[in-house]
Amino acid sequence: MTWPRIGKPEQVRAAANLRDYARACREFSWDEARRELSGLPSGNSLNIACVAVDRHAAGPRCGRTAIRWIDRHDRAHDFSYSELREWTNRFANLLQELGVRRGDRVFTLLGRVPDLYVAALGTMKAGCVVSPLFSAFGPEPIRERLRLGEGSVLVTTPALYRRKVRGIRDFLPSLSHVLLVGGDAEPRTTALGPALAAADPEFDAVPTKPEDAALLHFTSGTTGTPKGALHVHQAVLAHHVTARYALDLRPDDMFWCTADPGWVTGMSYGVIAPLTHGATLISDEGEFDALRWYRVLSAQHVTVWYTAPTALRMLMRDARKPGDFDLAALRFVASVGEPLNPEVVVWGQEALGLPVHDNWWQTETGAIMIANLAAAEIRPGSMGRPLPGVKAGLLERGPDGRALVTDGRVREITAPGVEGELALRPGWPSMFRAYWHDSERYARAFADGWYLTGDVARRDEDGHFWFVGRADDVIKSAGHLVGPFEVENALLAHPAVAEAGVIGKPDPVAGELVKAFVTLRPGYEPTETLRWELLAFGRHALGAVAPKELVFDQWLPHTRSGKVMRRLLKARELGLPEGDVSTLEVPG
Ligand code: AMP
Repeated sequence: MTWPRIGKPEQVRAAANLRDYARACREFSWDEARRELSGLPSGNSLNIACVAVDRHAAGPRCGRTAIRWIDRHDRAHDFSYSELREWTNRFANLLQELGVRRGDRVFTLLGRVPDLYVAALGTMKAGCVVSPLFSAFGPEPIRERLRLGEGSVLVTTPALYRRKVRGIRDFLPSLSHVLLVGGDAEPRTTALGPALAAADPEFDAVPTKPEDAALLHFTSGTTGTPKGALHVHQAVLAHHVTARYALDLRPDDMFWCTADPGWVTGMSYGVIAPLTHGATLISDEGEFDALRWYRVLSAQHVTVWYTAPTALRMLMRDARKPGDFDLAALRFVASVGEPLNPEVVVWGQEALGLPVHDNWWQTETGAIMIANLAAAEIRPGSMGRPLPGVKAGLLERGPDGRALVTDGRVREITAPGVEGELALRPGWPSMFRAYWHDSERYARAFADGWYLTGDVARRDEDGHFWFVGRADDVIKSAGHLVGPFEVENALLAHPAVAEAGVIGKPDPVAGELVKAFVTLRPGYEPTETLRWELLAFGRHALGAVAPKELVFDQWLPHTRSGKVMRRLLKARELGLPEGDVSTLEVPG
C-alpha cells in the first residue's frame, strides 16, 4: 500500500531550525559548526562536559534547570546548570583522589538516576572515558563488557552490585573501585554519596583534545565478542548540530528522550545534546507505562519528544488515548532505533496532531545521520534524507549480503529504488574512532573510502532513504541490538546444551523477539521442564537480552565449516525460500 505523504503547514516550516535543506547541504561545514558553539575554551581543547554544562553554568543561564528528574513516585526534582557543574566537579575530583588516570574507563550500571548524569559528565571532565551499561543486562553481558573495556571504576547501586556484580568481581582484575549510589557500602566498595559530599566542588576540567577518547559504547555483532565503539570529545559537535537539525531542538525546550543512557541514544541525546543547547532534559526513573508516559508529557509540558517505535506501538494499542491528556506544549516528535512502520507516523498525525519523524543512525555513527526534518514533508516509512555534513550512499552487494569489495573497490548504486548496503563517507565528528582493542574489525568496517553500516536500504528518486533490513544476523528487539553469538554462548554454558542457534523472530510490537534453537547433549530429554529451565538460565545470565522463545532442534543446519546457519533458521521460521544453500552441510 502507498501511504499519503504528510506535508507541513507554512508556520511549521517557517519556524523550523532547518528551513532550506538544499542550501544547508551546500553550505554546511563542520568547522563552521564549531564556531557556533560559543563559550568554548580557547586553544585546541574540547571537553564534552564543558560544552554541555560549564559553558551554561558560567553564563546567564546558570540557574536554568538542566535536568528535571522524575522519581518512581512521580516526584520531580530539578538540577540547575550550576548545580550540575558543581556535582560533576565533585565527581571528577573524586576520580582523581582515587588515582583514576586520564583515559581510564569508568563504567556506569545504573537506572535513570541523577548520579548517572553526574558520573558520566564528571568522568569526561576528569579526562576519563565513560562506558554506560544497560542496567537490565544480566551478569554475563556486564562481565564481558567490563572485561573487554578494562574498566577501572564501576558506578552502580547496592542492589545491582549484589545481584549482578559481586559474583563476577574476581574475574575483573582491572576493576579497582566500585562506587555505590544510595545505601551503605559493601565490602570492597565505596559509598558514593558521602564521597561526593566530601569532594571539592571546584575542578578545572582536564583540557582534553578534540580527538581524545570520551565515550565507549558497546554494540553487538553477529560473531565474536561485543564491539566497543570508541568516540572522541569532538563528537559533541555532531550531537549539538544534529539535535538542532533533526530534533528541531532549541534552548527553551523541555526535551524528553526516552532511551536509557545505557544505550547510545540515551547518551548522545538523553544526556549530551539537550545540555549543549542549554535546554532542560527530562529523565524519568520509571519504566514504560502508557499512563505514566502521557502524564510526563503533559505535566512536564514536554516540547520535543524523542522515542522509539516499540514504545509508540505500545501507546497505539493502549486504551488511553493522547486526546485524554493536555499535550498542547508538544511541538516535535521523533523516533529512532528500529523500522518505524507508516501506521505509527500516521497515528501520530491523527492522535497527537503531529507526525512522528523517523531518523536513522547507529552506535558507530554516534549521532543522527539520516532524518525526516521538521520543515520537510514526510513519506511514511522513509527514514528521511542525510543531514547536512553527512554523505550517505548505497553500495552493490555480494553473495554474503554485504557490500561487494573487489580489489579494494566498491560500486555505488545511483539508480533509484535499488537496494544496497547503506554506507557513509567518513568525516563527521562523531564517527567512532576504533573498536576497542580490535583494529582488524575496525578496518573491516571500511572499504574504498566508505564506512559500511551493515544495513540494507534503498533511495527514492528524491533522495529519501528507505530501510530494508540488516545485512547480517544481529537482532533488533524493542530497539536494542542483540548479538546472537553472545546469546548462544550464554546458553552453551548450560550442561544440557550441545549447540544453539539464535535468531530474531518478527514481532508486531517489539520488531523482533530473540528466539533460540537448541540441540541437546546425549542423555537429556527435550521436556517442557527443561525448556523452562533453559529460558530461566538464559534470563539469569543475560537479563533483558535473553531469549523469549526456545525450541529444541536436534538437526540445526550447518555450513560446511560447521557454523549454525542462522539465515536458514530464520527463513524456515518465516516460511520463506531457503535461498542459497550451497554452503549447507549435507548430513550423512
Ligand atoms: P544501535 O547501534 O544499537 O543504535 O543500532 C543501530 C541499528 O538500528 C541500525 O544499524 C539499524 O539496523 C537499526 N536502526 C536504527 N534506526 C533505524 C531506523 N530509523 N529504521 C530502521 N532501523 C533503524
